[in-house]
Amino acid sequence: MSDHAFWRSLRQDLHAHPELGFEEHRTSEIVARLLGEDGIAVHRGLGGTGVVGTLKAGDGNRAIGLRADMDALAMPETADRPYKSTVPGKMHACGHDGHTVMLLAAARYLARTKDFSGTVHFIFQPAEEGRGGAKKMVEDGLFKLFPCDAVYGLHNMPGLDVDEMAVVEGPQLASSDSWRVTFKGTGTHGAKPHLGRDPVTASGHFIAALQTIVGRVVDPLQPAVVSACSVEAGDPNALNVIPDIVKIGGTARAYSPETRDQLEEEIGRLAHGMAASFGVEAEYRFIRRIPPVVNAKEPTQTALRAAETVFGEKVRTAFPPSTAGDDFAFFGHEVPGCYVWLGNGPAVDGALHHNTAYDFNDDAISYGAAYWVRLTETELPIKSG
Ligand SMILES: [Zn+2]
Ligand SMILES: [Zn+2]
Repeated sequence: MSDHAFWRSLRQDLHAHPELGFEEHRTSEIVARLLGEDGIAVHRGLGGTGVVGTLKAGDGNRAIGLRADMDALAMPETADRPYKSTVPGKMHACGHDGHTVMLLAAARYLARTKDFSGTVHFIFQPAEEGRGGAKKMVEDGLFKLFPCDAVYGLHNMPGLDVDEMAVVEGPQLASSDSWRVTFKGTGTHGAKPHLGRDPVTASGHFIAALQTIVGRVVDPLQPAVVSACSVEAGDPNALNVIPDIVKIGGTARAYSPETRDQLEEEIGRLAHGMAASFGVEAEYRFIRRIPPVVNAKEPTQTALRAAETVFGEKVRTAFPPSTAGDDFAFFGHEVPGCYVWLGNGPAVDGALHHNTAYDFNDDAISYGAAYWVRLTETELPIKSG
């Protein structure tokens, strides 16, 4: 990939000017301008600051989407580097600055070479970091305006070499959901529990029983996590008062839609059952945030073929899934997709994603861009004869 100095300095410029989800005004302006300069049709406004660039070549009628995320995180940058964040409390600690630049570099190359037949949509999404950018783009009509037969995502991964890529079929990232249970009893004097209905004891039994969902209900071969992360009740200054209400909240993670459904149902069943056995009431809410990212068979095979032309022997087809989430899942939910891990080199000073010293590795730019190019050419081949 030519123009390496240009892409490197653009990546460092984006790093120095991080923007949070749905606030990527400067970044999306740069993205739209560069795509436009390459003669790529630009559509703005999906998901607010989202940008979609569309490039057609030949007469192929197949279309694919390639996705990069643009947002930074609300955290300070502690490492000293010439292109350190200029915005206090904001930083590119997940490497999305690199994702943006790699897709731009690929778009420019493809616009010049057009060695494919079909349509490629370059999807620059806002707000991947927990703010719902992908979902918003889908709700705003992403795949109605830009129908795709397959959609592809990529994330940098420290610990893999920059000339290394993991392409694995099946679950890559977990679903990430929240749940809330409120136990409602009848408050009373701490010395006279028989005159009320105690929600604290009910909630204690509920929390203790919660792990039986993973231990006794979910298939032992299916990974799942249920954690109670917040408990609120009573007043530490009123140790002779049994409160009316206990509020509990937590997270639930799974790698399959079936296990995710099961967690939603079972946490509720346990809450209601436990409440009934203690004569209190339970209110239950399961808040679906992000589905799991599950790589579909065909796009994964295509991605693998493309990756092999760039990374050769250094393509990994086995790599452990992450308990984190990525809202690329909303794209993969609409259209068969594949999400790959691109090496970011060794973790410098131990800094991993979301660390205040993390940095995207500019040596990875040409590898990531080359992958996008080969993927497009593999997905949308020019038919011979
Ligand atoms: Zn992140
Ligand atoms: Zn990320």
